[in-house]
Amino acid sequence: MYGLLPNRVIAPVSLRPLWVQSAPMLNHYDLHSHSTASDGTLSPSALVRLAAEAGVRVLALTDHDTTAGIAEARQAAEACGLELVSGVEVSVSWGKQTVHIVGLKVDPENQTLKNGLQALRDFRDWRAQEIGHRLEKAGIPDAYSGALAHSNGILVSRTHFARLLVERGVVEDERKVFKHYLVQGKPGYVPGDWATLESALGWIHGAGGQAVIAHPARYKMTRTKLRTLFGEFRELGGEAIEVVSGSHGRDECISMAKHTNDFGLLASAGSDFHSPENPWVALGRLAQLPGDCRPIWADWSESREERTSRMAG
Ligand code: AMP
Ligand code: MN
Ligand code: MN
Ligand code: MN
Repeated sequence: MYGLLPNRVIAPVSLRPLWVQSAPMLNHYDLHSHSTASDGTLSPSALVRLAAEAGVRVLALTDHDTTAGIAEARQAAEACGLELVSGVEVSVSWGKQTVHIVGLKVDPENQTLKNGLQALRDFRDWRAQEIGHRLEKAGIPDAYSGALAHSNGILVSRTHFARLLVERGVVEDERKVFKHYLVQGKPGYVPGDWATLESALGWIHGAGGQAVIAHPARYKMTRTKLRTLFGEFRELGGEAIEVVSGSHGRDECISMAKHTNDFGLLASAGSDFHSPENPWVALGRLAQLPGDCRPIWADWSESREERTSRMAG
């Protein structure tokens, strides 16, 4: 439970179990989060405000396949003294698997990046309609228009279908919608045809950013396959692995830290926050990176917040 402190009910300190009281210091960096520009439920400005209130000092907004929320998030960040990192989470097909690559410090106006992300959103439009057709055949009508209405129109994700089916009472929670309808072998599954790893890294680097393999433990790959991915990523110039993630347990965090050292990669940390109702981990509750890995932010210029506290102390 190293990376996953309880987040719904925060008990007074004296009532918390000892392992929570003695938990390591929390991380002031959260380099993976979502807003309504993709499949989060908070607007970019509401997300930034909540993160600042929760103690996050440097937040990356990393919506799936779009940078549409960055401008609003940046404005809100300036208003509340939080440092915003402009990011994106690019959907990639690697072999038969979908892998997510987070781009950090990207220029959202870069044309090559914009074109690449647009192509992914075009595929998403087609896929969402196809998911709708397939769900219709499974007895669930009008799912495409319903999912579209749950999105803000920039892109439709499987998460929007999940929310729709929960709202309609077809399934009781989002995880169960995925399990019974939206994953391979289930009625609403449509295989992804996303960017290649090479293109994703090309767009991120072309836009001046750094590339991070998101939540590597979520892919359920064998150790050998995961290491092949890390090797190819490194060869293509990728920079970092998400070591601390909202979806990593303590052991996964420690093993990913070892991989970063084996491959000479940097380490990142991100909650993958989507909504206050259903967080993988609450904002501001991420653990620090294990001491033996090198943070991706080590070479970033000092943040305003750090400068303020250094000058004060
Ligand atoms: P998509 O990119 O449209 O295929 O949707 C992927 C998104 O669905 C991920 O970013 C998660 O937010 C969400 N997701 C994937 N698997 C699950 C799951 N088992 N339960 C809940 N949400 C999930
Ligand atoms: Mn998502
Ligand atoms: Mn992801
Ligand atoms: Mn994500």
